[in-house]
Amino acid sequence: MRIELVNTGTELCLGDTINTNAAWIGQRMAALGLEVARQTIVPDGGAVREAIEEAAARADVVLISGGLGPTNDDVTRESTAELLGLSMQQDAAVTAHLESYFNKRNKPVSAATLRQAMVPVGAVVMDNAFGTAPGLYFPAELAAARGWHSHLFLLPGPPRELKPMVESWVEPRLRALLPDGDTRRVIYLRITGIGESDIVEKVEKDLEAIAGLELGYCIGKGDVDVRLAGQIGPVEQAATLVRERLGDCIVSEDRRVLEEVLVQELAARGQWLATAESCTGGYLSSRITDVSGSSRVFGHGFITYANEAKAQHLGVPLALIESHGAVSEEVATAMAEGCLRVSGADHALAITGIAGPTGGTEGKPVGTVFVGLASKGGLPTVVRRYYYPGARDRFKLLTSQAAMEMLRRRLLGITIPG
Ligand code: AMP
Ligand code: MG
Repeated sequence: MRIELVNTGTELCLGDTINTNAAWIGQRMAALGLEVARQTIVPDGGAVREAIEEAAARADVVLISGGLGPTNDDVTRESTAELLGLSMQQDAAVTAHLESYFNKRNKPVSAATLRQAMVPVGAVVMDNAFGTAPGLYFPAELAAARGWHSHLFLLPGPPRELKPMVESWVEPRLRALLPDGDTRRVIYLRITGIGESDIVEKVEKDLEAIAGLELGYCIGKGDVDVRLAGQIGPVEQAATLVRERLGDCIVSEDRRVLEEVLVQELAARGQWLATAESCTGGYLSSRITDVSGSSRVFGHGFITYANEAKAQHLGVPLALIESHGAVSEEVATAMAEGCLRVSGADHALAITGIAGPTGGTEGKPVGTVFVGLASKGGLPTVVRRYYYPGARDRFKLLTSQAAMEMLRRRLLGITIPG
């Protein structure tokens, strides 16, 4: 099924608005096992009609966003009706929706507003629960007179209106239109702690031998998604193979990020995490608190940047820092164990390293970082040394990822590699 996207709006061409609709729709289609074959961005005005015409002649499905509003430059509805030779009728239900929308806000319903209630004959209204302009669906038979076989979906531009409409109207129709119905599958295996080239080496040759499998990789933030799409048989076969070879490194199969997985695993055990960060400056705790529900598992995050702070808040002996250096296995151990004691948490992650670009030495070059994990219940404190040279933001990202992965492995009883 060939899907094309037409995103309309002068603001998109000027770069004033970033075309987030295209990115989001691409992801939603991928989740259905579909790929957007082409995206077109056009300014408001005559280019809209031209873009729809070209896409409709090529595609099975055209998703068009923007230009459904009440202003003069909103021409998508009229352009589509003209292209398909459809007359327009005022729709009673949409008119009632507009009247109630404006009455609730104590505003009059203007003639410009009522243009949004004009519906091309044969088009199906898609309710807009979050705005005024309804979406419109033109089944393929409306395009047949032009010799096309494309279903057209007209969607509002504002993302908060477009997204629920795609989810509740467009996706169910696309699913019904898919020739192989419900037997198509997409599985995303999210993998961390191992690079893309190592993943490829471990699985690619055997995956490529599976007939009918569409294989893709996407490098994320400290992780890699292996995307398996196609009919259910080959997809399941491929997923089994990846699980066998890389199972310990698979963080999620439903696109959850590591911090979400970690918070959920901790919550399931009723356990608490505390953090003690030096060079990441709170980035680890920021990622954890990005997750809704993190307050059930995360109570203390220390940013102990200075040596004195490590001593004052975590009880790390200054003499230890002097003898081994702040960036050392010994100090990472003391930070983690001090953090565990002071916070009363079940697990404590500690980070000390050299983000750079200055401060490196021969034995500990820029990018060197020690991550410590201390836990209650007689578990040994583990410290691992990592090396992430590069920009500071990337250093923080990869270090926080490595720290969370250490704890995920401890919770799940998986070996933490040395
Ligand atoms: P429109 O329905 O075309 O009048 O769009 C209304 C508003 O929605 C625009 O001013 C943008 O702020 C936003 N918008 C429109 N198209 C997009 C898009 N493709 N991606 C993100 N935002 C958009
Ligand atoms: Mg517009």
